[in-house]
Amino acid sequence: MHSKNPVELKGATLDKELLDLMPWELIKEFQAFVFENGPHGVKIGAVNLKNSALQRYVKERFGRKVEWFNVTEDAVIDILNNNRPDFKTELSRLAQTSLETNDNITRIADRIISHAIGQEASDIHIEPLRNETVVRFRIDGVLQTVLNLPKNIHPPLIARLKILSNLKIDEYRRPQDGRIEPEEFPETSLRVSTMPTLFGEKIALRVLNEASKSISIDELGFSEEQKNIILENIEKPFGMIVASGPTGSGKTTTLYALLQLLKREGINISTLEDPIEYTLPGVNQIQVNPRFDLTFASGLRSLLRQDPNVMMVGEIRDSETATMAANAAMTGHLVFTTIHTNDAASAFTRFLEMKVEDFVVSSTIILVIAQRLVRRVCNECATKKKIDKAILKKIRERPDVMEALEKKQPGITQELEKYKFRVGKGCGKCFQSGYLGRVGLFELLTPNKEIHDAILDHASSEQIEAVAFKSGFRDMVTDGIDKVFKGITTFEEVLRTTRNT
Ligand SMILES: [Zn+2]
Repeated sequence: MHSKNPVELKGATLDKELLDLMPWELIKEFQAFVFENGPHGVKIGAVNLKNSALQRYVKERFGRKVEWFNVTEDAVIDILNNNRPDFKTELSRLAQTSLETNDNITRIADRIISHAIGQEASDIHIEPLRNETVVRFRIDGVLQTVLNLPKNIHPPLIARLKILSNLKIDEYRRPQDGRIEPEEFPETSLRVSTMPTLFGEKIALRVLNEASKSISIDELGFSEEQKNIILENIEKPFGMIVASGPTGSGKTTTLYALLQLLKREGINISTLEDPIEYTLPGVNQIQVNPRFDLTFASGLRSLLRQDPNVMMVGEIRDSETATMAANAAMTGHLVFTTIHTNDAASAFTRFLEMKVEDFVVSSTIILVIAQRLVRRVCNECATKKKIDKAILKKIRERPDVMEALEKKQPGITQELEKYKFRVGKGCGKCFQSGYLGRVGLFELLTPNKEIHDAILDHASSEQIEAVAFKSGFRDMVTDGIDKVFKGITTFEEVLRTTRNT
Protein backbone atom coordinates (compact mmCIF):
# COMPACT_ATOMS: atom_id res chain seq x y z
CA MET A 1 0.00 0.00 0.00
CA HIS A 2 1.16 3.49 -0.81
CA SER A 3 0.98 6.12 1.77
CA LYS A 4 2.00 9.14 -0.19
CA ASN A 5 -0.14 12.17 0.10
CA PRO A 6 -1.81 13.33 -3.12
CA VAL A 7 -1.29 16.98 -2.24
CA GLU A 8 -2.69 18.14 -5.57
CA LEU A 9 -6.13 17.18 -4.22
CA LYS A 10 -6.18 19.94 -1.67
CA GLY A 11 -9.23 22.08 -2.41
CA ALA A 12 -9.94 20.11 -5.55
CA THR A 13 -13.29 19.27 -6.98
CA LEU A 14 -14.03 15.83 -8.30
CA ASP A 15 -15.57 15.09 -11.67
CA LYS A 16 -19.21 14.15 -11.44
CA GLU A 17 -18.23 10.79 -12.93
CA LEU A 18 -15.88 10.09 -10.06
CA LEU A 19 -18.42 11.21 -7.51
CA ASP A 20 -20.96 8.83 -9.00
CA LEU A 21 -18.54 5.98 -8.41
CA MET A 22 -18.82 6.50 -4.69
CA PRO A 23 -21.81 8.38 -3.30
CA TRP A 24 -21.27 11.44 -1.17
CA GLU A 25 -22.63 9.74 1.95
CA LEU A 26 -20.04 6.97 1.69
CA ILE A 27 -17.24 9.45 1.11
CA LYS A 28 -18.29 10.98 4.39
CA GLU A 29 -18.83 7.67 6.18
CA PHE A 30 -15.54 6.08 5.09
CA GLN A 31 -13.53 9.31 4.84
CA ALA A 32 -12.36 8.09 1.45
CA PHE A 33 -12.87 8.99 -2.20
CA VAL A 34 -11.99 7.88 -5.71
CA PHE A 35 -9.75 10.45 -7.36
CA GLU A 36 -8.78 8.65 -10.51
CA ASN A 37 -10.48 6.02 -12.62
CA GLY A 38 -8.26 4.93 -15.48
CA PRO A 39 -7.75 1.86 -17.66
CA HIS A 40 -5.31 0.46 -15.12
CA GLY A 41 -7.59 0.68 -12.13
CA VAL A 42 -8.91 3.15 -9.58
CA LYS A 43 -6.99 5.31 -7.16
CA ILE A 44 -8.53 5.81 -3.76
CA GLY A 45 -7.55 8.26 -1.08
CA ALA A 46 -8.51 7.34 2.48
CA VAL A 47 -7.85 8.65 5.97
CA ASN A 48 -7.71 5.16 7.43
CA LEU A 49 -6.33 2.65 4.95
CA LYS A 50 -6.99 -0.21 7.35
CA ASN A 51 -10.76 0.37 7.59
CA SER A 52 -12.03 -3.15 6.84
CA ALA A 53 -15.56 -2.01 5.96
CA LEU A 54 -14.09 0.36 3.39
CA GLN A 55 -11.86 -2.37 1.97
CA ARG A 56 -14.83 -4.73 1.66
CA TYR A 57 -16.88 -2.03 -0.05
CA VAL A 58 -14.10 -1.17 -2.51
CA LYS A 59 -13.47 -4.83 -3.32
CA GLU A 60 -17.15 -5.42 -4.06
CA ARG A 61 -17.69 -2.14 -5.86
CA PHE A 62 -14.58 -2.07 -8.06
CA GLY A 63 -13.24 -5.61 -7.89
CA ARG A 64 -10.07 -4.80 -9.83
CA LYS A 65 -6.75 -3.12 -9.37
CA VAL A 66 -7.01 -0.52 -6.65
CA GLU A 67 -4.25 1.81 -5.59
CA TRP A 68 -4.56 3.26 -2.11
CA PHE A 69 -3.32 6.63 -0.95
CA ASN A 70 -3.26 7.98 2.52
CA VAL A 71 -4.95 11.40 2.80
CA THR A 72 -5.62 13.74 5.68
CA GLU A 73 -9.01 14.32 7.27
CA ASP A 74 -8.86 17.90 5.99
CA ALA A 75 -8.56 16.67 2.41
CA VAL A 76 -11.78 14.70 2.83
CA ILE A 77 -13.54 17.68 4.38
CA ASP A 78 -12.38 19.80 1.43
CA ILE A 79 -13.68 17.25 -1.03
CA LEU A 80 -17.01 17.13 0.78
CA ASN A 81 -17.36 20.90 0.92
CA ASN A 82 -16.41 21.41 -2.71
CA ASN A 83 -18.32 18.53 -4.18
CA ARG A 84 -21.33 18.12 -2.01
CA PRO A 85 -24.09 17.67 -4.57
CA ASP A 86 -27.08 19.86 -4.00
CA PHE A 87 -29.56 17.36 -2.68
CA LYS A 88 -32.55 19.59 -3.43
CA THR A 89 -31.62 20.23 -7.05
CA GLU A 90 -30.83 16.60 -7.68
CA LEU A 91 -34.09 15.35 -6.19
CA SER A 92 -36.24 17.99 -7.85
CA ARG A 93 -34.75 16.96 -11.19
CA LEU A 94 -35.46 13.31 -10.48
CA ALA A 95 -39.00 14.17 -9.38
CA GLN A 96 -39.76 16.06 -12.58
CA THR A 97 -39.06 13.03 -14.72
CA SER A 98 -40.25 10.47 -12.23
CA LEU A 99 -43.63 9.81 -13.75
CA GLU A 100 -41.98 8.62 -16.94
CA THR A 101 -39.76 6.07 -15.28
CA ASN A 102 -40.22 3.95 -12.20
CA ASP A 103 -36.50 3.80 -11.72
CA ASN A 104 -36.49 7.41 -10.60
CA ILE A 105 -38.88 6.69 -7.73
CA THR A 106 -36.48 4.00 -6.51
CA ARG A 107 -33.62 6.49 -6.71
CA ILE A 108 -35.61 9.21 -4.94
CA ALA A 109 -36.41 6.84 -2.07
CA ASP A 110 -32.79 5.63 -1.86
CA ARG A 111 -31.38 9.15 -1.98
CA ILE A 112 -33.71 10.40 0.76
CA ILE A 113 -32.60 7.51 2.99
CA SER A 114 -28.88 7.77 2.23
CA HIS A 115 -28.94 11.55 2.59
CA ALA A 116 -30.65 11.25 5.98
CA ILE A 117 -28.06 8.72 7.16
CA GLY A 118 -25.23 10.90 5.82
CA GLN A 119 -26.60 13.90 7.69
CA GLU A 120 -26.94 11.78 10.83
CA ALA A 121 -30.66 12.47 10.97
CA SER A 122 -32.57 10.51 13.60
CA ASP A 123 -35.93 10.70 11.83
CA ILE A 124 -37.32 11.18 8.34
CA HIS A 125 -40.87 12.46 7.91
CA ILE A 126 -42.58 12.38 4.52
CA GLU A 127 -45.77 14.37 4.80
CA PRO A 128 -48.47 14.96 2.20
CA LEU A 129 -49.93 18.48 2.21
CA ARG A 130 -52.72 19.72 -0.05
CA ASN A 131 -50.51 20.61 -2.99
CA GLU A 132 -47.11 19.15 -2.25
CA THR A 133 -45.14 16.61 -0.28
CA VAL A 134 -42.69 17.75 2.35
CA VAL A 135 -39.65 15.77 3.42
CA ARG A 136 -38.27 16.68 6.82
CA PHE A 137 -35.26 15.38 8.76
CA ARG A 138 -34.65 15.57 12.47
CA ILE A 139 -30.97 16.47 12.91
CA ASP A 140 -29.49 16.93 16.38
CA GLY A 141 -33.03 16.93 17.71
CA VAL A 142 -34.37 19.65 15.42
CA LEU A 143 -36.91 18.87 12.70
CA GLN A 144 -36.14 20.73 9.46
CA THR A 145 -37.58 20.74 5.95
CA VAL A 146 -35.05 19.40 3.48
CA LEU A 147 -37.18 18.95 0.39
CA ASN A 148 -40.50 19.89 -1.19
CA LEU A 149 -41.71 17.51 -3.88
CA PRO A 150 -44.64 17.72 -6.30
CA LYS A 151 -47.72 16.03 -4.92
CA ASN A 152 -47.94 13.46 -7.73
CA ILE A 153 -44.72 11.89 -6.42
CA HIS A 154 -46.35 11.09 -3.13
CA PRO A 155 -48.29 7.88 -3.89
CA PRO A 156 -45.49 6.10 -5.80
CA LEU A 157 -42.89 7.22 -3.25
CA ILE A 158 -44.95 5.88 -0.34
CA ALA A 159 -45.58 2.66 -2.29
CA ARG A 160 -41.84 2.25 -2.86
CA LEU A 161 -41.04 2.76 0.83
CA LYS A 162 -43.78 0.29 1.76
CA ILE A 163 -42.25 -2.33 -0.54
CA LEU A 164 -38.84 -1.74 1.04
CA SER A 165 -40.34 -2.22 4.50
CA ASN A 166 -42.55 -5.22 3.64
CA LEU A 167 -45.81 -3.40 4.21
CA LYS A 168 -49.07 -3.88 2.36
CA ILE A 169 -49.19 -1.40 -0.52
CA ASP A 170 -52.96 -1.51 -0.86
CA GLU A 171 -53.58 -0.80 2.81
CA TYR A 172 -53.68 2.95 3.25
CA ARG A 173 -56.53 3.43 5.67
CA ARG A 174 -54.83 1.84 8.66
CA PRO A 175 -51.45 2.62 10.25
CA GLN A 176 -48.72 0.04 9.57
CA ASP A 177 -45.27 -0.66 11.03
CA GLY A 178 -42.28 -2.13 9.25
CA ARG A 179 -38.54 -2.05 8.90
CA ILE A 180 -35.99 -1.24 6.20
CA GLU A 181 -32.45 -2.65 6.19
CA PRO A 182 -30.60 -0.46 3.65
CA GLU A 183 -28.00 -2.55 1.78
CA GLU A 184 -25.42 0.22 1.52
CA PHE A 185 -25.50 0.86 5.27
CA PRO A 186 -25.39 -2.56 6.92
CA GLU A 187 -25.17 -1.15 10.44
CA THR A 188 -28.24 1.02 10.07
CA SER A 189 -31.87 0.05 9.95
CA LEU A 190 -35.01 2.13 9.73
CA ARG A 191 -38.19 1.63 11.67
CA VAL A 192 -41.06 2.65 9.43
CA SER A 193 -44.57 3.69 10.38
CA THR A 194 -47.38 4.89 8.17
CA MET A 195 -50.39 6.92 9.18
CA PRO A 196 -53.43 7.99 7.15
CA THR A 197 -53.87 11.79 7.12
CA LEU A 198 -56.28 14.18 5.42
CA PHE A 199 -54.11 14.60 2.29
CA GLY A 200 -52.71 11.08 2.04
CA GLU A 201 -50.50 8.72 3.95
CA LYS A 202 -47.77 10.15 6.11
CA ILE A 203 -44.68 8.01 6.59
CA ALA A 204 -42.13 8.36 9.37
CA LEU A 205 -38.78 6.57 9.45
CA ARG A 206 -36.71 6.28 12.60
CA VAL A 207 -33.02 5.81 11.87
CA LEU A 208 -31.52 3.18 14.17
CA ASN A 209 -27.82 2.55 14.49
CA GLU A 210 -27.35 -1.09 15.33
CA ALA A 211 -23.61 -1.01 15.58
CA SER A 212 -22.65 -2.24 19.00
CA LYS A 213 -20.99 0.85 20.30
CA SER A 214 -19.96 1.16 23.86
CA ILE A 215 -21.65 4.17 25.34
CA SER A 216 -19.76 5.51 28.28
CA ILE A 217 -21.40 7.42 31.09
CA ASP A 218 -18.60 9.99 30.76
CA GLU A 219 -19.73 11.04 27.27
CA LEU A 220 -23.28 11.91 28.26
CA GLY A 221 -22.58 15.12 30.17
CA PHE A 222 -23.15 14.20 33.83
CA SER A 223 -21.35 16.30 36.45
CA GLU A 224 -19.07 14.51 38.94
CA GLU A 225 -21.72 14.91 41.61
CA GLN A 226 -24.45 13.45 39.39
CA LYS A 227 -22.17 10.59 38.43
CA ASN A 228 -21.56 9.72 42.06
CA ILE A 229 -25.30 9.63 42.78
CA ILE A 230 -25.77 7.27 39.83
CA LEU A 231 -22.89 4.97 40.79
CA GLU A 232 -24.18 4.74 44.33
CA ASN A 233 -27.70 3.79 43.23
CA ILE A 234 -26.97 1.27 40.51
CA GLU A 235 -25.04 -0.84 43.02
CA LYS A 236 -28.18 -1.29 45.12
CA PRO A 237 -29.55 -4.87 45.00
CA PHE A 238 -33.09 -3.86 44.15
CA GLY A 239 -35.30 -0.91 43.34
CA MET A 240 -36.32 1.03 40.27
CA ILE A 241 -34.24 3.56 38.35
CA VAL A 242 -36.34 5.70 36.05
CA ALA A 243 -35.14 7.84 33.14
CA SER A 244 -37.74 10.42 32.18
CA GLY A 245 -38.19 12.88 29.34
CA PRO A 246 -39.96 13.30 26.02
CA THR A 247 -39.24 11.16 22.93
CA GLY A 248 -35.72 11.75 21.62
CA SER A 249 -34.37 13.11 24.89
CA GLY A 250 -31.73 10.39 25.14
CA LYS A 251 -33.34 8.33 27.94
CA THR A 252 -32.52 4.97 26.37
CA THR A 253 -28.91 5.92 25.71
CA THR A 254 -28.55 6.87 29.37
CA LEU A 255 -29.96 3.54 30.52
CA TYR A 256 -27.68 1.67 28.11
CA ALA A 257 -24.69 3.49 29.59
CA LEU A 258 -25.81 2.49 33.10
CA LEU A 259 -26.28 -1.15 32.05
CA GLN A 260 -22.74 -1.13 30.63
CA LEU A 261 -21.47 -0.22 34.09
CA LEU A 262 -23.26 -3.21 35.61
CA LYS A 263 -22.19 -5.69 32.98
CA ARG A 264 -19.93 -8.21 34.62
CA GLU A 265 -19.56 -11.92 35.23
CA GLY A 266 -22.36 -13.40 37.29
CA ILE A 267 -24.97 -10.70 36.71
CA ASN A 268 -27.84 -11.57 34.41
CA ILE A 269 -29.13 -8.52 32.55
CA SER A 270 -32.24 -8.73 30.36
CA THR A 271 -34.02 -5.99 28.46
CA LEU A 272 -37.44 -5.60 26.85
CA GLU A 273 -37.29 -2.94 24.17
CA ASP A 274 -39.23 -1.36 21.35
CA PRO A 275 -37.21 -0.82 19.27
CA ILE A 276 -33.80 -2.23 20.17
CA GLU A 277 -31.71 0.86 19.42
CA TYR A 278 -28.23 -0.55 19.91
CA THR A 279 -26.87 -4.02 20.39
CA LEU A 280 -25.38 -4.49 23.85
CA PRO A 281 -22.93 -7.40 23.92
CA GLY A 282 -23.48 -9.68 26.91
CA VAL A 283 -27.05 -8.49 27.51
CA ASN A 284 -30.21 -10.47 26.64
CA GLN A 285 -32.19 -8.04 24.54
CA ILE A 286 -35.77 -8.85 23.66
CA GLN A 287 -37.73 -6.97 20.99
CA VAL A 288 -41.32 -6.27 21.99
CA ASN A 289 -43.69 -7.39 19.24
CA PRO A 290 -47.44 -6.98 19.87
CA ARG A 291 -48.21 -8.89 16.66
CA PHE A 292 -47.02 -12.01 18.45
CA ASP A 293 -48.50 -10.98 21.78
CA LEU A 294 -45.11 -10.04 23.10
CA THR A 295 -45.96 -6.80 24.86
CA PHE A 296 -44.02 -5.04 27.62
CA ALA A 297 -46.39 -6.60 30.16
CA SER A 298 -46.39 -10.17 28.82
CA GLY A 299 -42.65 -10.04 28.14
CA LEU A 300 -42.03 -8.87 31.68
CA ARG A 301 -44.12 -11.73 33.04
CA SER A 302 -42.05 -14.35 31.16
CA LEU A 303 -38.83 -12.57 31.99
CA LEU A 304 -39.54 -12.66 35.72
CA ARG A 305 -39.84 -16.44 35.56
CA GLN A 306 -36.20 -16.51 34.46
CA ASP A 307 -35.27 -14.43 37.48
CA PRO A 308 -32.71 -12.00 36.03
CA ASN A 309 -30.83 -9.76 38.48
CA VAL A 310 -31.19 -6.65 36.39
CA MET A 311 -33.98 -5.79 33.99
CA MET A 312 -34.61 -2.93 31.65
CA VAL A 313 -38.18 -2.31 30.58
CA GLY A 314 -37.87 0.00 27.57
CA GLU A 315 -40.89 2.09 28.36
CA ILE A 316 -43.74 2.16 30.83
CA ARG A 317 -46.96 3.58 29.45
CA ASP A 318 -49.72 1.46 30.98
CA SER A 319 -50.91 0.49 34.40
CA GLU A 320 -50.25 -3.24 34.01
CA THR A 321 -46.59 -2.80 33.03
CA ALA A 322 -46.10 -0.12 35.72
CA THR A 323 -47.46 -2.39 38.45
CA MET A 324 -45.46 -5.41 37.33
CA ALA A 325 -42.22 -3.45 37.02
CA ALA A 326 -42.70 -1.91 40.46
CA ASN A 327 -43.49 -5.29 42.01
CA ALA A 328 -40.39 -6.80 40.41
CA ALA A 329 -38.36 -3.98 41.94
CA MET A 330 -39.91 -4.74 45.32
CA THR A 331 -39.07 -8.42 45.12
CA GLY A 332 -35.34 -8.21 44.73
CA HIS A 333 -34.70 -7.02 41.19
CA LEU A 334 -33.00 -3.90 39.97
CA VAL A 335 -35.32 -2.48 37.31
CA PHE A 336 -34.40 0.24 34.81
CA THR A 337 -37.12 1.92 32.83
CA THR A 338 -38.16 5.07 31.00
CA ILE A 339 -41.28 7.16 31.32
CA HIS A 340 -42.64 10.20 29.48
CA THR A 341 -42.71 13.03 31.99
CA ASN A 342 -41.34 16.54 31.74
CA ASP A 343 -39.47 16.52 35.02
CA ALA A 344 -38.15 14.16 37.66
CA ALA A 345 -40.81 14.90 40.29
CA SER A 346 -43.62 14.01 37.87
CA ALA A 347 -42.27 10.48 37.52
CA PHE A 348 -43.61 9.69 41.01
CA THR A 349 -47.06 11.15 40.34
CA ARG A 350 -47.22 9.39 36.96
CA PHE A 351 -46.76 6.01 38.67
CA LEU A 352 -49.55 6.93 41.08
CA GLU A 353 -51.78 7.90 38.13
CA MET A 354 -51.05 4.49 36.64
CA LYS A 355 -52.58 2.95 39.75
CA VAL A 356 -49.39 1.73 41.38
CA GLU A 357 -49.91 1.73 45.18
CA ASP A 358 -48.40 4.77 46.89
CA PHE A 359 -46.29 2.72 49.32
CA VAL A 360 -44.93 0.73 46.37
CA VAL A 361 -43.98 3.93 44.51
CA SER A 362 -42.32 5.45 47.57
CA SER A 363 -40.38 2.31 48.45
CA THR A 364 -39.26 1.16 44.99
CA ILE A 365 -38.17 4.24 43.01
CA ILE A 366 -34.62 4.90 44.16
CA LEU A 367 -33.53 7.34 41.47
CA VAL A 368 -35.16 9.42 38.74
CA ILE A 369 -33.00 10.92 36.00
CA ALA A 370 -34.93 13.48 33.93
CA GLN A 371 -33.19 14.75 30.84
CA ARG A 372 -33.14 16.67 27.56
CA LEU A 373 -30.62 16.69 24.76
CA VAL A 374 -29.08 19.98 23.68
CA ARG A 375 -26.70 20.63 20.81
CA ARG A 376 -23.02 21.12 21.58
CA VAL A 377 -21.23 24.26 20.38
CA CYS A 378 -18.97 23.28 17.44
CA ASN A 379 -15.36 23.35 18.63
CA GLU A 380 -14.07 24.20 15.16
CA CYS A 381 -15.82 27.54 14.83
CA ALA A 382 -16.52 28.54 18.44
CA THR A 383 -16.18 32.19 19.38
CA LYS A 384 -17.33 34.41 22.24
CA LYS A 385 -20.31 36.68 21.63
CA LYS A 386 -22.74 38.87 23.49
CA ILE A 387 -26.27 37.50 23.75
CA ASP A 388 -28.61 38.48 20.88
CA LYS A 389 -31.43 40.90 21.77
CA ALA A 390 -34.14 38.38 20.87
CA ILE A 391 -32.56 35.74 23.12
CA LEU A 392 -32.16 38.25 25.98
CA LYS A 393 -35.87 38.95 25.75
CA LYS A 394 -36.68 35.24 25.91
CA ILE A 395 -34.38 34.76 28.90
CA ARG A 396 -36.12 37.61 30.75
CA GLU A 397 -39.48 35.96 30.08
CA ARG A 398 -38.37 32.78 31.83
CA PRO A 399 -38.42 33.15 35.63
CA ASP A 400 -36.82 29.71 36.05
CA VAL A 401 -33.88 30.67 33.82
CA MET A 402 -33.50 34.07 35.55
CA GLU A 403 -33.48 32.34 38.92
CA ALA A 404 -30.86 29.81 37.82
CA LEU A 405 -28.69 32.66 36.51
CA GLU A 406 -28.94 34.54 39.80
CA LYS A 407 -28.03 31.38 41.69
CA LYS A 408 -25.02 30.88 39.42
CA GLN A 409 -23.80 34.46 39.72
CA PRO A 410 -25.72 36.89 41.92
CA GLY A 411 -26.49 40.18 40.17
CA ILE A 412 -25.77 38.89 36.67
CA THR A 413 -29.33 39.33 35.38
CA GLN A 414 -29.01 43.11 35.89
CA GLU A 415 -26.34 43.35 33.20
CA LEU A 416 -26.61 40.17 31.21
CA GLU A 417 -26.18 42.09 27.93
CA LYS A 418 -22.56 42.88 28.87
CA TYR A 419 -21.44 39.26 29.12
CA LYS A 420 -20.02 37.16 26.33
CA PHE A 421 -20.78 33.46 25.91
CA ARG A 422 -19.38 30.78 23.64
CA VAL A 423 -21.29 30.13 20.38
CA GLY A 424 -20.44 28.57 17.01
CA LYS A 425 -20.11 30.87 13.97
CA GLY A 426 -20.77 28.02 11.54
CA CYS A 427 -18.20 26.18 9.46
CA GLY A 428 -17.80 23.32 7.00
CA LYS A 429 -17.49 20.78 9.76
CA CYS A 430 -20.83 21.66 11.41
CA PHE A 431 -22.64 22.35 8.10
CA GLN A 432 -22.85 26.03 9.05
CA SER A 433 -25.09 25.33 12.04
CA GLY A 434 -22.55 26.26 14.74
CA TYR A 435 -23.33 23.01 16.56
CA LEU A 436 -21.78 19.57 16.43
CA GLY A 437 -23.07 16.62 18.46
CA ARG A 438 -25.27 16.67 21.51
CA VAL A 439 -25.04 16.51 25.28
CA GLY A 440 -27.60 15.89 28.03
CA LEU A 441 -29.12 18.31 30.53
CA PHE A 442 -30.03 16.38 33.65
CA GLU A 443 -31.86 16.57 36.94
CA LEU A 444 -31.49 13.73 39.42
CA LEU A 445 -33.92 13.02 42.20
CA THR A 446 -33.25 10.48 44.95
CA PRO A 447 -36.22 10.43 47.31
CA ASN A 448 -35.50 11.00 51.01
CA LYS A 449 -37.86 10.61 53.97
CA GLU A 450 -39.67 13.92 53.24
CA ILE A 451 -40.27 12.93 49.62
CA HIS A 452 -41.50 9.48 50.67
CA ASP A 453 -44.01 11.23 52.94
CA ALA A 454 -45.08 13.57 50.12
CA ILE A 455 -45.69 10.54 47.85
CA LEU A 456 -47.74 8.80 50.57
CA ASP A 457 -49.74 12.06 50.90
CA HIS A 458 -50.32 12.02 47.11
CA ALA A 459 -48.71 15.43 46.82
CA SER A 460 -48.54 17.13 43.40
CA SER A 461 -45.32 17.04 41.39
CA GLU A 462 -44.80 20.75 42.19
CA GLN A 463 -45.02 19.97 45.90
CA ILE A 464 -42.61 17.05 45.56
CA GLU A 465 -40.19 19.28 43.68
CA ALA A 466 -40.47 21.98 46.35
CA VAL A 467 -39.58 19.40 49.00
CA ALA A 468 -36.64 18.22 46.88
CA PHE A 469 -35.29 21.77 46.46
CA LYS A 470 -35.03 22.03 50.25
CA SER A 471 -32.53 19.19 50.27
CA GLY A 472 -30.34 20.50 47.46
CA PHE A 473 -32.10 19.27 44.32
CA ARG A 474 -30.69 20.87 41.15
CA ASP A 475 -33.12 21.10 38.25
CA MET A 476 -32.46 20.75 34.55
CA VAL A 477 -32.40 24.50 33.86
CA THR A 478 -29.69 24.93 36.50
CA ASP A 479 -27.70 22.18 34.80
CA GLY A 480 -28.28 23.93 31.46
CA ILE A 481 -27.05 27.30 32.75
CA ASP A 482 -23.93 25.54 34.10
CA LYS A 483 -23.29 24.15 30.63
CA VAL A 484 -23.82 27.57 29.01
CA PHE A 485 -21.24 29.08 31.39
CA LYS A 486 -18.83 26.27 30.53
CA GLY A 487 -19.34 27.01 26.82
CA ILE A 488 -20.68 23.52 26.10
CA THR A 489 -24.05 24.73 24.81
CA THR A 490 -25.99 27.98 24.32
CA PHE A 491 -28.89 29.85 25.90
CA GLU A 492 -30.98 29.15 22.77
CA GLU A 493 -30.58 25.42 23.29
CA VAL A 494 -31.49 25.55 26.97
CA LEU A 495 -34.52 27.74 26.25
CA ARG A 496 -35.62 25.50 23.39
CA THR A 497 -35.42 22.21 25.24
CA THR A 498 -36.58 23.15 28.74
CA ARG A 499 -39.93 24.71 29.17
CA ASN A 500 -42.15 25.60 32.04
CA THR A 501 -45.38 23.77 31.56
ZN1 LIG B 1 -18.50 24.70 13.16
